Amino acid sequence: MQFTDDQGEFLVQENIEHIHPEGAQFYSLCRDELIKQMLSSLLQDTQIQTGVTLKRFSEENDQVKVVFSNEQVKYYDWVIGCDGVHSSLRRQIHPNETPEFLGLLVWRAVIDAPQDVALPTYMLGSDHAVLLYPMPEGKTYLYGHVFQSVKSPPTQSFSNEFSSFRGLVPPILCHLNQQDDPSKNIKFYIHHMGKSHSVRFKLEGFKRVLLVGDAAHAFGPALQNGAAQAFEDAYVLQELLHPLFTKQQIPSLIDAFEKRRTPRVQQIFTLSNAKLQALSDPKQVQGRNEAIRKTGAPNVHGFKLIMQENP
Ligand SMILES: Cc1cc2nc3c(=O)[nH]c(=O)nc-3n(C[C@H](O)[C@H](O)[C@H](O)COP(=O)(O)OP(=O)(O)OC[C@H]3O[C@@H](n4cnc5c(N)ncnc54)[C@H](O)[C@@H]3O)c2cc1C
Repeated sequence: MQFTDDQGEFLVQENIEHIHPEGAQFYSLCRDELIKQMLSSLLQDTQIQTGVTLKRFSEENDQVKVVFSNEQVKYYDWVIGCDGVHSSLRRQIHPNETPEFLGLLVWRAVIDAPQDVALPTYMLGSDHAVLLYPMPEGKTYLYGHVFQSVKSPPTQSFSNEFSSFRGLVPPILCHLNQQDDPSKNIKFYIHHMGKSHSVRFKLEGFKRVLLVGDAAHAFGPALQNGAAQAFEDAYVLQELLHPLFTKQQIPSLIDAFEKRRTPRVQQIFTLSNAKLQALSDPKQVQGRNEAIRKTGAPNVHGFKLIMQENP
């Protein structure tokens, strides 16, 4: 990974290969490819229903009763809620635990790169940042954020917002601006970034409902660990499940899951949310850049720390 300032001035290059366990390398893939891979590993009789959401739920006689948005009612031995940062399961039982705005407005898109981006590149301005990640088939993942003290909609296009950036950015902006065919227009996903109110795997008064992923713990972006920790949740859950596991053991399995995951996730939650800050004073920006040159990038320090332990 390489880190530059907003003018493309080199700050530091970090070799992250040695952070990963042997045999596991860093690579990127599109979300549809990830979903295809996961679907291909499911058992044949797994049922998936799309276009339906969970409306209400309750626990009755060692079962979870679920009412869906199409008014269908079903009973389950347990329910795993992985419905994201705005989790309706969590909101229904803990209405005060709403996501907190992190002060960031974010643009994201996967684009055909006008030139190769050889390394994941972080370009750090004072209150603006751009990330470029190489993707397969000549594509690039393009991310930009701006700090906002008050949550408000974007007032400018991506190109205008990041027009003062140099280095790898101008050719990309030029490429974006040349898309005169409307069908080729880059669709940015623009949104405000939020984090969970707190880490919560279990719902008060429920023994058979488990929250995982962003529903349980949406982080600030400093350590880029939201999806990573969602995967760890899934990994730990499959480790705790064993062939002789019975319906009666579900509440104790959920307890064991919470006990095992809480310290690690809580640590990452705290670290992820602590490190974001907009710098307005040029001296502060200079100080931050000097620190990165000398001691390396803060997120890479975080990766090293996280990778010291298994989930
Ligand atoms: C800008 C940005 C950059 C990020 N970068 C990184 C990164 O570099 N590395 C990293 O590890 N993480 C990153 N993350 C975090 C990562 O995207 C999330 O942590 C991850 O997607 C969480 O996965 P999830 O399955 O828990 O939730 P989601 O991906 O949010 O999935 C939740 C799903 O539940 C569905 N749903 C919602 N409500 C209901 C309902 N009532 N009934 C049925 N379905 C419902 C939604 O439609 C959605 O499909 C980033 C996030 C953002 C916003």
